[in-house]
Amino acid sequence: MAITKTDFINYTRCRRYPALENIRQDKLESNLTVEEYLKEENNEKLKEIMSMLVETDEENGEETDLTKKVDKQLNAMMDYYKEIEILAASQVERTFGGKSIYSKDTFMQESFDYDLNGIKYMCYVDIYNENKDDINIIEVKATTNRKYNELNYKIGEETFPLFTQKDNIFYLNKPSEPSDSYDKKILKLLNRYGDEGKYIYDLAVQRFIIDNYYKKQKKINYYLAVLNSEYVYNGETENGKNVYKKDENGNDIIVIYEMNEITKIYQKYIEADREKLEKSIFELDNSPCRVSKSCELKKRTECKFKPICFSKVPSKNASYNYKRFISFKANGIKYDKYDLINEGYYSLGDVPKEWITNNNHLIQRECYDENKVYINKEKIKAGLNSLSYPIYHLDFETFPCPIPRFRGEKPYTQSCFEFSLHIEKEPGKCDKDKDNYVFLATSNTEDQREEMVKMLVEKIDVSNGGCMLAQNVSFEKGRIKELSIIFPEYKKQLTQIYNSGRDLLEIIDNNKELYKSLGFDEYNSSTVNYYNNEQSGSYSIKKTLPLFTNLTYHDLEVQNGVEALVEYSMFDKMTPEELNKSRNALTEYCKQDTWAMVEILRGLRNLLK
Ligand code: SF4
Repeated sequence: MAITKTDFINYTRCRRYPALENIRQDKLESNLTVEEYLKEENNEKLKEIMSMLVETDEENGEETDLTKKVDKQLNAMMDYYKEIEILAASQVERTFGGKSIYSKDTFMQESFDYDLNGIKYMCYVDIYNENKDDINIIEVKATTNRKYNELNYKIGEETFPLFTQKDNIFYLNKPSEPSDSYDKKILKLLNRYGDEGKYIYDLAVQRFIIDNYYKKQKKINYYLAVLNSEYVYNGETENGKNVYKKDENGNDIIVIYEMNEITKIYQKYIEADREKLEKSIFELDNSPCRVSKSCELKKRTECKFKPICFSKVPSKNASYNYKRFISFKANGIKYDKYDLINEGYYSLGDVPKEWITNNNHLIQRECYDENKVYINKEKIKAGLNSLSYPIYHLDFETFPCPIPRFRGEKPYTQSCFEFSLHIEKEPGKCDKDKDNYVFLATSNTEDQREEMVKMLVEKIDVSNGGCMLAQNVSFEKGRIKELSIIFPEYKKQLTQIYNSGRDLLEIIDNNKELYKSLGFDEYNSSTVNYYNNEQSGSYSIKKTLPLFTNLTYHDLEVQNGVEALVEYSMFDKMTPEELNKSRNALTEYCKQDTWAMVEILRGLRNLLK
């Protein structure tokens, strides 16, 4: 039987997983073909890159189901992954010298296997490098180093970074004296389900296979290569292609982290996982087991058997759908979402009322128990009155390209390619078509941002009052700020728009500071303005739109932000007919986003009648 690195990571989630996978005897005895392995690896890489492109709104339980999107279009995203691997390989050669083996296709990469107890553990490595003294194993990830940069530890009052760079490589520091905060950060690196630990666990599984394969030859080093979140592309091209030399601050686009020590510490956990894995494979016990963080609910790595193990949990108003839920505390014990399920609290109404202390949770519970809608008319009225007209309803569509494409961008900069604007001159006075303006780029490789900025500042004039309104305005404000740095000649107008920014969520959900300033007391300024059971704890536009309008995204060709960015990323590969069709679909989608805001405001006004 062959167990790949991805199998290992999945089969060790829990005792039940291998049994639900129904590993048959023929699979136990078969070997994996290179093609099968390639498909599996590519699917994992695709999921990884897509998760970086999409903001997961875990709090609100909103997430695009990427597993349904693995099709021809999403595979176009793989080109970016391959480009990252090529950039990483050239960085590796500059850093280590020697010879490297890597490929655009996994089956050309170096592979390793290790036979134990009738199981062949196998892995391919992204980059295999060998020089006079060492073998270097480099795992390339389409993520950035931000999470590692942000890790610091303290000794007394002094703060130190967990990793420091020396000769192009980041190394894990050792504290000069015992430090609790250092130990805590190491535990983060050792959490295989955490943001910082998951990539290292992946590398540590490779180490388990490779160390056993080689037994003892040369020294083997283990590295992660990731994108540098600080790298700023200067717009330089050669022969029509972007070139990524060191930036003005001396940053490389790829950074390498040495993970020898931490992957070594991981080996005892991997060994324990391997023993559990072999036991569960041979027992194949598919009776229910306790759910836990290994299920990775609402993450891109969510276990595919969630529908089975969470079958008693309703799809709406689950016990963990309390607004911004983290945990409940009762009798000194904390209950997170997994604890609630393990204890048999499946729906919102199952949670003992006496556990609920948060006022918004109490409102939510009352609405659930009494099947009613909560409306704080005074606050909604005050919120609506605080908006100044004209209201410029604005929505950007962005492509957070892993590799920066245009001057001034970093890896995963939310690069704007479209906006829709609806202008509401007076309350309710806005025509769906006549008062709508859409900018949409015609190419995904040509920099058309200045054209977009020109149109934006021409259409939005808040110099004599009025405001820019968006759902989650911090996103729109963030983009406007970035554009004002890249195009300083428009800074004055862009800053005015930025300063006028208001959030639709302030009217329907809440904004404590705003309502305090409008004279509301502590209770009222910290509780929601509106709640309906249909929201299931979320204020996303997908949830609020059907409450106030008959509008739906189901009949649109582009139905969400991921589909929008994937469409756009294919522009330059389309025929003129395809491009035309795609641009029409994107125009309709973005226009719907801002029209939805106009309609929700109308719906809120109607509540007051
Ligand atoms: S959903 Fe959770 S409990 Fe069920 S198989 Fe997956 S990891 Fe195990």
